[in-house]
Amino acid sequence: MRYNWLLPSISSFVMVSLPATAAEMVSWQFNATENRIDFSTNSAVKPEAQMLANPSRLIVDLPDTRLNQPTSSQLLGNGIKSLRVGQFDTDRTRMVLELDPDYTIDPQQILIQASNSKQWSIQLPTPQPLKSFPRGAPVGPVGVFNENGQVVVAQPIRPKVAVNTAISSVNYIAIDPTRTGILVQADRQSRMQLKYTTIWDERAGSFRVTIPNAKLATAYQIPKESQRYLTVSAQGDDLIVLVRRADGVKVDIVRQYLDSRWVYLQPISPSRIAVRPQPEAITITVPKTQTTTYRPTPKQDTSPAARPSSGRVLVMLDPGHGGRDPGAIGLGGLREVDVIMPVARRVAEILEKQGIAVKMTRTGDNYVGLDERVSIAREAGATIFISIHANSIENRPDVNGLETYHYNIGQSLAETVHRTVVDHVNKNGFYLNDRRVRSARFLVLRKATIPAILVETGYLTSAEESARLRRDDYQKVMAEAIAKGIIQYVKDRN
Ligand SMILES: [Zn+2]
Repeated sequence: MRYNWLLPSISSFVMVSLPATAAEMVSWQFNATENRIDFSTNSAVKPEAQMLANPSRLIVDLPDTRLNQPTSSQLLGNGIKSLRVGQFDTDRTRMVLELDPDYTIDPQQILIQASNSKQWSIQLPTPQPLKSFPRGAPVGPVGVFNENGQVVVAQPIRPKVAVNTAISSVNYIAIDPTRTGILVQADRQSRMQLKYTTIWDERAGSFRVTIPNAKLATAYQIPKESQRYLTVSAQGDDLIVLVRRADGVKVDIVRQYLDSRWVYLQPISPSRIAVRPQPEAITITVPKTQTTTYRPTPKQDTSPAARPSSGRVLVMLDPGHGGRDPGAIGLGGLREVDVIMPVARRVAEILEKQGIAVKMTRTGDNYVGLDERVSIAREAGATIFISIHANSIENRPDVNGLETYHYNIGQSLAETVHRTVVDHVNKNGFYLNDRRVRSARFLVLRKATIPAILVETGYLTSAEESARLRRDDYQKVMAEAIAKGIIQYVKDRN
């Protein structure tokens, strides 16, 4: 075995050593499934990484660090020959990842990050044949890091791009619960435009999102369940988010989705990458916020400047069924469509009067497929999706009440609308049983990329509720209640 790592090859990273405070290497391993080197030390280290050629190898030096054990080596595969860890000199531990002959990796795609100053990971791209680098094997610094995992010297050293002029602090970033998107929240004192670029990184097998001039909030740790999928690192002033290809994670073009305080980057089906391979620059608005949960919070700022421009909200109302599909049939032959259509129409009227833009997936008694309803909302650029239905259950005339469903990112919308409807109806001379907010995999909810809910206004099969549901005055109160809930949600969100 050749010990190339013994060659005195570094010249650009001479730093003053403080051997008195030497750290000790605690553990290291190459995770073949993740193509990642993990290592830990007993006190803070500042790694220095570089690529060298002939043979292609990644060198990671830990200044002021002792190995306190013999050089060890792990033989690997898939284009990577081995990982060796040894004591380079008295106060420097060196890790050498050597590629197979004729293979190399692009140093620009290596991501080194610290979960704290003692726990580090080096995410590697898939090794590529040397011949795919026409100008020869890449060499040069990958990065010099401080103990917080921030890059002191980064490769590539790029000219600064004049975007995101103020540094934004990203205080939440995670894979969303359905594993189809990334939730990003930036904390700013005022509304700002946050720009990002996205690209499918074929070689890294990852989707790469670059947010220029952004930093991860100092104390923030990516949630554990997200660490499998997301690698977030600083590269100069940029925040780089890599979304790895993993089971259950769809990775593709990032779509922006705006839920007022969240930027929702949703990667969608990989097949579409071929259509749009170029990086796209998208402008997303990051509104003022202090919170990091989905739950609605009281309005924090009532100054006119912080008010939503109503033009940014577009409510898509979706009266269920229609045409050849009358929906559920209740007691006395009461048809679902005959209850929900008048309710939906009234909701639309009220919202319009309040200056909230609203559209409907159907306005007449025509059949619209479920997928079509989702695409109508998408194409219209809707920001909120409300499906209106009425329920039924066989042989249970005793069951009645309101159920509000959400699946993905509609939970706070569901909660606000549900609570408002129960309150409003009960305060207006009618009884409405609270059958709670629920989560369900209805297609219109599952496929929506905006907050989407489904309101089951009541049971057509209930002895007492069916009598109310057919009444015009009850439908009117129900419509007012739903509209009020939507308006409340829009207010809460701004
Ligand atoms: Zn229905």
